[in-house]
Amino acid sequence: MPVFDGSTLRRHHRIAGDAVVVGSGAGGAIATAELAAAGWNVVILEEGGYFTGQHLSGSVSFAFTRLYRNGGLTGTIGRPPIIVPLGRCVGGTTTINSGTCYRTPDFVLQRWERDFGLEGATALEEDYSAIERDLHIKPVPDHLYGPANGRIQEAVERILGWRGSRIPRNEDGCIATARCAFGCPSDGKLAMNVTKIPEAVARGATLWVHARVRRILLDGHRAVGVVADALTPEGRPTGAQLDVVAGLVVVAAGALHTPALLQASGVRNPWLGRNLHLHPATRVVALFPEPIRGWHEVPQAYNIDEFIPSGIFIQGQFVPPEVQAAAIPGFGRTHAERMRAFERMASFGALISDESSGRVWSAGTSVTPLAWYTLSKRDVRKLLFAIARTAEAFFAAGAMEVYSGVAALPVLRDRTEIATLESARVRPSQLDVMAFHPMGTARAGAAPLSVCDPWGRVYGYRGLAVADASLFPTSNRINPQLTIMALVRRNAREWIARGY
Ligand SMILES: Cc1cc2nc3c(=O)[nH]c(=O)nc-3n(C[C@H](O)[C@H](O)[C@H](O)COP(=O)(O)OP(=O)(O)OC[C@H]3O[C@@H](n4cnc5c(N)ncnc54)[C@H](O)[C@@H]3O)c2cc1C
Repeated sequence: MPVFDGSTLRRHHRIAGDAVVVGSGAGGAIATAELAAAGWNVVILEEGGYFTGQHLSGSVSFAFTRLYRNGGLTGTIGRPPIIVPLGRCVGGTTTINSGTCYRTPDFVLQRWERDFGLEGATALEEDYSAIERDLHIKPVPDHLYGPANGRIQEAVERILGWRGSRIPRNEDGCIATARCAFGCPSDGKLAMNVTKIPEAVARGATLWVHARVRRILLDGHRAVGVVADALTPEGRPTGAQLDVVAGLVVVAAGALHTPALLQASGVRNPWLGRNLHLHPATRVVALFPEPIRGWHEVPQAYNIDEFIPSGIFIQGQFVPPEVQAAAIPGFGRTHAERMRAFERMASFGALISDESSGRVWSAGTSVTPLAWYTLSKRDVRKLLFAIARTAEAFFAAGAMEVYSGVAALPVLRDRTEIATLESARVRPSQLDVMAFHPMGTARAGAAPLSVCDPWGRVYGYRGLAVADASLFPTSNRINPQLTIMALVRRNAREWIARGY
């Protein structure tokens, strides 16, 4: 596949297209594929490099240096500081995600339409179905499911009487390397790097890698193109510059970088960068008496649906030992002893739909975002509830110990200790929180409370649209990639049919 590489540019380069798309993740790849399918001349610029199974072994250190932004340590300032890992490569965060693909619950889409003016949010059926078909989205099949999931499912549904289900994933030919989050070595995970990006390029789109957009070019209130810095494969500017002139600029840099780029380019809207939601999440680890060997199965295969209406979503989440070590309590010999039992560990993640919200700024004229976010007391309670229910599921499945990730009570030895954990006074800084789903910073809906109109076009500007998780008016309660794709597919078709 022809790919243009910014790192090889030796001098200022200028190109033109009908549209330029900034970022090749969930939203950018779908926007590019749709526009290219309609015969548009599309240029897509991606800051990171291009990797597929032939380059990937599932190595954690390779992934953190080449596929993740800032070595996986992008984060927010506030109480507590939260790590928000992001992809920085072709396919964006889809290349390093777990491949779960959910439709957003109807009650959330109805609220987006009713309360935020996101017209047509409840009419995404055709877009969801098309993407589910294209990406082979289906529940995890038996041969990838693994005994640990079966055991936890049994405990959740039969013993506790909660609702749960197998997770739908975008895969074809998955061989369960359990390395989804570190770049799929088999290309079995149908992320954007192996699906929509090659599809768009085959239809004539031009992909530039190692090209970081520094500025959107505005002529008054009309976008006319972008300026990008060429980068080395390690991400340092080479000094060369790439200009793309286009009638439509689509910003799909993700919910932290999109508002920063728009602000740094002079786009003004009081809501731009506000309304940052993250889905704060914790990892809860259980130690079982017998081997679990999660590395033989899909990392995310089963989820507990029961608490979605209360804003809590619990999912399987196997991680390799070098990552799991950070969630295991203790130091020195105690920690080493616990890690020796790795093959008997299972881990589940619990995320909450956050009522807290944060804000993103661009640092001066830089496109590097600064994100501020503080967990509210209610969200701390929600996280504790989520951890407690996960622990309950593990003990019902026969766990001997549960590592809670809460500094006040890091090890639970039986289910009677769950109540103590839930009633503990816990400060945000005592929780081990990460977040994987930034969203909401350029929300779509009715003016004046939104940055974009319902189809992602930036209010007050012509030829400028957003196509990523920034568009969500609120948390969507579950993993967002499928909804980002469906919304962007619908929006791109609107731009093609009715203009931008
Ligand atoms: C470890 C992990 C696991 C996850 N698992 C799941 C899952 O299983 N299911 C799910 O639904 N969600 C999951 N997510 C979240 C999901 O992948 C993201 O929500 C989704 O990919 C966001 O799409 P996006 O288009 O908003 O941005 P991204 O996919 O992040 O794409 C943004 C792209 O823009 C590029 N970019 C940024 N700035 C510039 C610039 N100035 N110039 C050029 N390029 C730029 C970035 O390098 C990146 O490639 C996971 C996230 C993580 C971190």
